[in-house]
Amino acid sequence: MIDQARNAAEQLRSTSLTERLAELEILQARIRDDQEMLVERIMAETGKTRTDALVSEIMGSLDYLHWLHGAAGKVLADEKAPTPIALMGKQSQIWHEPWGVVLVITPWNYPFHIALTALAPAFAAGNAVILKPSEHTPLKGVFEALFDGLPLLQSAVQIAYGDGDMAQTLIAGRPDRICFTGSARTGRRILAQAAPLLIPVDLELGGKDAMLVFEDVNIPRTVAGALWGALTNAGQSCTSVERLYVQRSIHDAFVSALRTSMDALVVNQGDAGDADIGAMTTEFQCDIVAAQLEDAREKGASVYGGGRVPGTRLLRPALVTAVTPEMRLMQEETFGPVIVVESFEDEAQAVALANGAPFGLSASVWSKDLERARRVARALRVGAVSINNVMLTEGNPALPFGGVGESGYGRVKGAEGLRGMTRSKAVLIDKQSGKLEANWYPYTRSKYQLFGDLIRGLFGRGPGALLRFARAGLKLESVAQKPREGL
Ligand code: NAD
Repeated sequence: MIDQARNAAEQLRSTSLTERLAELEILQARIRDDQEMLVERIMAETGKTRTDALVSEIMGSLDYLHWLHGAAGKVLADEKAPTPIALMGKQSQIWHEPWGVVLVITPWNYPFHIALTALAPAFAAGNAVILKPSEHTPLKGVFEALFDGLPLLQSAVQIAYGDGDMAQTLIAGRPDRICFTGSARTGRRILAQAAPLLIPVDLELGGKDAMLVFEDVNIPRTVAGALWGALTNAGQSCTSVERLYVQRSIHDAFVSALRTSMDALVVNQGDAGDADIGAMTTEFQCDIVAAQLEDAREKGASVYGGGRVPGTRLLRPALVTAVTPEMRLMQEETFGPVIVVESFEDEAQAVALANGAPFGLSASVWSKDLERARRVARALRVGAVSINNVMLTEGNPALPFGGVGESGYGRVKGAEGLRGMTRSKAVLIDKQSGKLEANWYPYTRSKYQLFGDLIRGLFGRGPGALLRFARAGLKLESVAQKPREGL
């Protein structure tokens, strides 16, 4: 598989960005035309609601492709860089070249969107791609069918079905770059395997996102935002609201409104577009959520709602209050339909609580006072912040996406993510002539003195500095013109 990818990467070198984007445009049209079929496939494998499948997986992917089409020309174009005065007469450029073979390893929570938004920019930048989807949601044959009759995509993108062993075999084949989205535990394993091979790795890992609600908010709208932020995709989002901090003066009113709105949510699987919360994708994730809730209960938390619809993987949403820091719910990623609410007194405490987790993926700040919201957003140790909205930075494909701390590093999406699919090549262009450089051999005492003067002139101050620089520069030039005796 790696050999085939290497050949494909070689062949892609003779293709233009325009040709590659043309295939991605057809892919975009096919996704739009086949959206209902894709929604069915995604629902069947993940258990998510019809609306979650359509909006997050399909609409998000189409949005990304649309952005890519418009932005790639500018982001991937050769760049001119300034050339310093000491290198006068030369040109400097930066070329953004493909890595070669990019290995993309994806999780099960957004199996279509995460795969597509990694493979499309990698391919647009001229890389061959091997996609290793999660064994829990392989979407077998879906991408192959979408690529049918698109020769560049067909040869450049291969899908490797299998589990962690398959991923390890692929890494051992020495791809040129690894883009991993998944848990911190697996991220560490990948880094350990990639380190001796010196393969660069992008790590998009988990989160424990905080939502900070100040007392001046519109409560009904903010409650609606909190519910969606915590429960969309049944809470199985890396940027789900996992810690909701509400200012003390409105805490009780907020929790009571949350309960009422939460009770009205429809939990169902295989819906026609009229369910709010779908099923959990895997049995083991149901167990993790149940264990964390049990641990919280045992340690004194108050749990409202929750429980499982018998014979299904549908979990009813739970609202947890009276939490303490040592509870698993407050320390580990939950990745389920659970809303945890705590109160804070003031801005400083809100920031300290939010920054108290080892993860740092995204966060949201809610306040009418936009100056305060901006101040708090700057103080948060995360890769993204939405102000008076939730999980919305991801809604804009022009913005970079990625975390800090245990949420990983590297950025996908936006210009930064697209550039990440390339490595830069620095290029300096000089004219062909008989002229030698002053800093080439031979080294002499007089040249040494002139370089000293040049530096004092170049980095010195005052009106004499420029003159000194010019004089030393001209003398060095004339010395450099003289070829070495005997040559
Ligand atoms: P996971 O780490 O268990 O698996 C992810 C992928 O890694 C799968 O394809 C799996 O087969 C593969 N894998 C397993 N062992 C491996 C190994 N030793 N070497 C290489 N690959 C291996 O994660 P998951 O349970 O599928 O996904 C849930 C996690 O993903 C959560 O932590 C969630 O927060 C995170 N996530 C992060 C983002 C983000 O962009 N930051 C997005 C979605 C999900």
